[in-house]
Amino acid sequence: MLLPVSRFESNQLLAHLSRTESLWLEQDLERMELATGQVLNACGAPLRHVYFPASATVSLVSITADGGSAEVAVVGCEGMVGVGAFMGNACALNDAVVQRPGCAWRMSTAAVLHHTRRSSEFMQQLLGYTQALFTDLAQASACTRHHGLDQQLCRWMLQHLDRQDGLDLRITHERMARLLGVRREGVTYAALKLQKEGVIDYRRGRIAVLDRKGLEARACECYGVVRRAYARLAGGPDSGHRAHPQAELPGHPHGQPAAAGVRCFGADGGRTAPEGRRRPQPSCER
Ligand SMILES: [Zn+2]
Repeated sequence: MLLPVSRFESNQLLAHLSRTESLWLEQDLERMELATGQVLNACGAPLRHVYFPASATVSLVSITADGGSAEVAVVGCEGMVGVGAFMGNACALNDAVVQRPGCAWRMSTAAVLHHTRRSSEFMQQLLGYTQALFTDLAQASACTRHHGLDQQLCRWMLQHLDRQDGLDLRITHERMARLLGVRREGVTYAALKLQKEGVIDYRRGRIAVLDRKGLEARACECYGVVRRAYARLAGGPDSGHRAHPQAELPGHPHGQPAAAGVRCFGADGGRTAPEGRRRPQPSCER
């Protein structure tokens, strides 16, 4: 029997796998608590693990030779950190830095390679996510060239809100500026404008979003484009996604899986997967 769960109890990629596949993966998944600022992978360093965030969010950050930085994507419960691992890439392409603390599931690179070679279902799931991530990266590239900082800031906040519970973002203007790859003064000006318009309230490293719809109205089209790409992965209304057929349980050394929990990065804002798509998975209790 599936238990009612919060949408932030586990990872969507794992949630959408069949029960059979969940049992296979369970033995190689390790629950981790991640702290803000923790570097999961450093650019150019050997990729030893991949992470499937649950309540944590992780920024993928590119660093330039002169010390500049910019977030190229954010990963939360909809995805994984370390997509290069299953493509045979031994080194991380970006820094992966924990933005919001919380739990995640970790798997060794060797185990990821083993399971993607063993299971087309797992491989297809990771490829689907990678395709959505490519859309994210391409859109971010266009966004920085063609859209104003005001719009980019709104997009950035929405993308992080979508991957967490609540409407508070714990971040300073300085940190936001580094992630957006712009000067702090520009972020402060744009944030003050939003505050005057009653959309957010900023105090000492905490942004309270007061009017999410106002934020959406001010964000550029990139937010919607990327959101729809991840929603298709989640089986959103325009996804064409088909739930996996129910599978028989294999003999497994760990027996029954942990209580099921599903949350979804759906297109409709209600991110709980339809009952028919729920699959057993390792839960991540807080
Ligand atoms: Zn944009």
